[in-house]
Amino acid sequence: MLPSGTLESYMKKRYRRLSRLFKDILGSEYFLTDPADTACYSFDASGQENMPWAVALPANTSQVSRTVELASREAVPVVPRGAGSGTTGASVPVSDSLVISLTRMKRIKSIDPVELSCVVEPGVITGDLQRAVEKQGLFYPPDPASLSFCTIGGNVNTCAGGARAVKYGVTRDYVRSLQVVLADGRVIRAGSSTAKGVVGYDLRHLFVGAEGTLGIVTEITLRLLPLPEAVGTVAAVFSSSNAAMDAVTCLFKSGILPRCAEFMDEMSLKCIRDMLPFDAGSRAKAFLLVEVDGLESSIASQLEKVRRCIVAKGAEKIYQPPGSRELNMLWSARRGLSPSIKKLGFEVKISEDICVPRSRLSSMLDFLKDAGQIFPVTILTFGHAGDGNLHVNLLFNRKELNSDKEIHELIKSIMKRTIELGGTISGEHGIGLSKKPFIHLELKPEVLDLHRQIKKILDPGNILNPHKIF
Ligand SMILES: Cc1cc2nc3c(=O)[nH]c(=O)nc-3n(C[C@H](O)[C@H](O)[C@H](O)COP(=O)(O)OP(=O)(O)OC[C@H]3O[C@@H](n4cnc5c(N)ncnc54)[C@H](O)[C@@H]3O)c2cc1C
Repeated sequence: MLPSGTLESYMKKRYRRLSRLFKDILGSEYFLTDPADTACYSFDASGQENMPWAVALPANTSQVSRTVELASREAVPVVPRGAGSGTTGASVPVSDSLVISLTRMKRIKSIDPVELSCVVEPGVITGDLQRAVEKQGLFYPPDPASLSFCTIGGNVNTCAGGARAVKYGVTRDYVRSLQVVLADGRVIRAGSSTAKGVVGYDLRHLFVGAEGTLGIVTEITLRLLPLPEAVGTVAAVFSSSNAAMDAVTCLFKSGILPRCAEFMDEMSLKCIRDMLPFDAGSRAKAFLLVEVDGLESSIASQLEKVRRCIVAKGAEKIYQPPGSRELNMLWSARRGLSPSIKKLGFEVKISEDICVPRSRLSSMLDFLKDAGQIFPVTILTFGHAGDGNLHVNLLFNRKELNSDKEIHELIKSIMKRTIELGGTISGEHGIGLSKKPFIHLELKPEVLDLHRQIKKILDPGNILNPHKIF
C-alpha cells in the first residue's frame, strides 16, 4: 500500500509535467487548465456535463498531430470539440480528459467554381461557409437548424442533416476528402478531392459520423452545387398532425421533390406562434413548411402541386410569404423552435431523433400520442417530415416523473416502435452518451462487434473520445 498522499503528489507532478509539454506545443495562451476557462467546454446542448482536465486550442494540423501524439504516449483521453451544439453528449468530456477544441481552425482555404468544391478547416461555422459560397453563385446544401453556430467539423462527425436533406442529402453526401489525425498522431488523407475516386476502401465515410472516436478531422474538401436559381415557399396549418403527414406523403407522389418539408405539432406551434408572420388560427394543430427550388420558370408549377396536396388533405390555412422579411420570419420560427421549448417551463427536456419511412409517420405519431397518455409526460414533436425524421421531445417535471427506470422504459418503447416501423433510432444527431443504452436495439451483436474491432484498429489505446457510441 502506498503511503497516504503519495498518489496525489504523483498525479500533481504528472499533470504539471504534462501541462508544460502541451504548452510547448500549443503556446501557454492556448492551453487552458483554469476551471473558470475549462468549464466552458464541459457541456453540450444535451444538458449533460463533466469537467475536463484541460483544453487545447490548436491553430493547425501540425499542432493537433503533436498534441494527440503526446496524449497517446501519456494515455490522456482526448475529446474533440466543435461548437458543442450536439444534442447527445458526444463532445462532453470524460474525466481527466483533454478537450481539443477546433474552433481556432476556421479558415475557408479555397472555393473552386470549376471543381465545384471547397477546402475548409473544421472550425468554420456552417452558416458562414454557406454565405461565402453563395457569393460565388454556389451552394452548400446541408443546413442544420444550428447552422449559425455549429461547425463543419462537428457536422462531419455527426453527419449532420437539416431541412434540405430531403432533396439534397446529408453532410456525408458532400464530403469528398478528409485530412485526419489518427490516435497516434499520424496525419492521413481519406478520399480524393476529385469528383470521382474508387481507390481502396471508402475510409472517408468511416470517419463521417464517427463522433470523434476514430480520428480528429483537420481539413475537409466538400462538394458544392450551383446555387438554385429560385426558391418557392409555402406554409400551411392543419387541424390534425395526421392530416399534415398525409399531405407530406401526397407531395412525394405528386411528381416533385420538395427541398424541405418541415413539420411541427400543436405543442411546437404553441412555442413559435408569436414568431410567425401570419395568424395560425385557433384550429391549428399542426404546421407544415414546404420549400421547392430550381429554375425560376419551374417554381410556379411546383408550388401548384404542393398547394394541391395541402388543399386535398384539408389544410385550414395556406400562407405564401410575400417577401424576404416574412420568409426569414418563417425560418427563424422554425430554427428557433428547439431553444424556445424552454418557454413551456418544464424542468426536463429529453430530445429524441428518430427516423421512420415517410409512409409510417402517421403510425409513429399515433404511437407517441398513446405514449403521452400512459406516461406522465408532454410530448412535443417536430422535424424533417420529408425525411421521416422526427425530433420527439419528452417534457416533464421531476415531481411527475422522477424514476430513471420509467424514463428509460418510455424512451426504449419509442426506439422499439421506431425499429418495428422500419426506422432508425437516430436520423442525424448520432449516439454520443444519450443513445448508447439503446444502440443494441438496432445493431445486431455481430455488427456491434465489428464496430469494436474497427475502433481497436484505429485507436488501440482507446484515447479518442472514449465511452461514446458503444
Ligand atoms: C438548436 C439546435 C438545432 C439543431 N438542429 C440540427 C439539425 O437540424 N440537424 C442536425 O443534424 N443537427 C442539429 N443539431 C445538432 C448539432 O448542431 C449538430 O450535431 C452539429 O453537427 C454539431 O456540430 P458542433 O460543431 O456543435 O459539434 P460538437 O457538438 O462540438 O461535436 C459533435 C461531435 O463531433 C465531434 N467533433 C467535433 N469536431 C470534430 C473534429 N474536427 N474532428 C473529430 N471529431 C469532431 C465531437 O467529439 C462530437 O462527438 C441542432 C442542435 C441545436 C442546439
